[in-house]
Amino acid sequence: METNFRIEMKAIKYIGGVIFGLALLIFILSAMLGPFTTNQQEVQALLSEKQFAQLDSYFQEELYDRDFQFGFQMAAVIRTGYENTNRWAKKEARWDDVLYERKMDLSSKIVRGANKSAVQEDKGLFLFLTFGLGIIGSLMWVLPNVILLGKKGIKNNHYFQQSSTNRGWIGWLVFACLVSFYILLYFFPDFITNWIIVTDPLSMALNRGAASQWFLYGFLYCVVMSVMGVRMFIKYRQNRYQMFRTSSVLFFQICFAFLIPEILVRFNQPYYDFKNIWPLDYDFFFQWNLDAMLSNGTLGLFMLVWGIVLILVGVPVMVYFFGKRWYCSWVCGCGGLAETLGDPYRHLSDKSVKSWKIERYLIHSVLVFALVMTGVTLYTFFSGDQEVLGVQTQDVQSTYGFMIGSVFAGVIGTGFYPVMGNRVWCRFGCPLAAYLGLVQRFKSRFRITTNGAQCISCGNCSTYCEMGIDVRWYAQRGQNIVRSSCVGCGVCSAVCPRGVLKLENGPEEGRINDNPILIGKKGIQLSKNVTS
Ligand code: SF4
Ligand code: SF4
Repeated sequence: METNFRIEMKAIKYIGGVIFGLALLIFILSAMLGPFTTNQQEVQALLSEKQFAQLDSYFQEELYDRDFQFGFQMAAVIRTGYENTNRWAKKEARWDDVLYERKMDLSSKIVRGANKSAVQEDKGLFLFLTFGLGIIGSLMWVLPNVILLGKKGIKNNHYFQQSSTNRGWIGWLVFACLVSFYILLYFFPDFITNWIIVTDPLSMALNRGAASQWFLYGFLYCVVMSVMGVRMFIKYRQNRYQMFRTSSVLFFQICFAFLIPEILVRFNQPYYDFKNIWPLDYDFFFQWNLDAMLSNGTLGLFMLVWGIVLILVGVPVMVYFFGKRWYCSWVCGCGGLAETLGDPYRHLSDKSVKSWKIERYLIHSVLVFALVMTGVTLYTFFSGDQEVLGVQTQDVQSTYGFMIGSVFAGVIGTGFYPVMGNRVWCRFGCPLAAYLGLVQRFKSRFRITTNGAQCISCGNCSTYCEMGIDVRWYAQRGQNIVRSSCVGCGVCSAVCPRGVLKLENGPEEGRINDNPILIGKKGIQLSKNVTS
């Protein structure tokens, strides 16, 4: 029999779910609110002289003084005008007439200025109805778990019975929503100006400027991580390591990735995330970034030196002492989102040897791509040549930015949580994880020790390893786990009912114990049995 108190807690939880659903619905529908109207004077004020001269005649027929009900209708007209102009200029080889600003940025500027919707009229109200209600509703959903979970804590979470966490229809729906959101955010920000302007009041307070799509994303990122971080605190409240690393990723995300860069902009300094490290921060060595740092006095110079010291000294030294967990599980924003928003999906990672092989080929290929792209970029920076071996540097950068920076890291990296687990990007794509992993594998004091005699082969550890490591396989043999992909999240240890697994930093000697695992033609084997 459930006590009245538990029933009340459940009621609060479900009311919270309804409030969250309502906020989400308002957020989605608010993107549709209009109208959007503009005129020649407004557009002239927003564009450069060249852009206005190129687009004005087309806009006179298609854009000015028309009522558009939806922002995407107006955006489509602007994009068409932009494409026609560039097609004509390129065909006629009139390179000075080509528009080089990205069409989504140019379109965003005009659509934003043309926005006459209710959201534009009362941003504060919509901020409350979307983000405010969303936070209240999700906390009402999460907080009763303190009572409802009782002392069960980490286990018995029924993940495999729930449609949302076991690739059921709710999981696929969340997948579709996440992927759509990332596609809009990266490639169609001019379709979602209502979402962006909702965060204007916060942006004005922090950096004294209007919000961009990246401000919206940064704020949303912090909100989602904070709410899901509260869920982590409740779920893992009996485990000090989990409490520590959840607090750590929240601190670094909110302060270092969001607040400090925005405040730097307020004081006319370069936007800079002091914890972001190349090659994850792939545009660190791009001309515009180097120029921004080099032209900003002592602070700019400090940013440049700090970034290089992190790459050359910070990474190897910290990985030597703590393993790659110091970054992937304690500091990184991608890891932070994976560990909070992605926690309910961690068991979906593929544990097969085949996916391990794909992982190694893919992640090291991305690292090589990042190295080549940066090499070409630096060559252009120092020599002034825009081409290397007949290939335009700009094209290499754009290809990397599109394929890795946007599609892999964003659309796939987070969108695929509900179907492929929460560390898709960290496991298969992150070039920094590949670099950290190489150091961890060959020169580190970190290992997970296994007390094989205690293992009852329940498989909890393997099930909940987000990096697809078959932890049980090692535990059964009493073999230390020294894998380049292990992010040291510690969840395998947290869910083990027998206390078999311990994350340790110790002497390098004996770190890889007797039977190191090798992959031969016959799959995973102990070294003494490998014949080929
Ligand atoms: S082996 Fe354990 S600590 Fe390493 S990634 Fe997997 S669950 Fe996390
Ligand atoms: S969770 Fe613990 S007991 Fe269960 S298989 Fe893993 S190491 Fe063995």
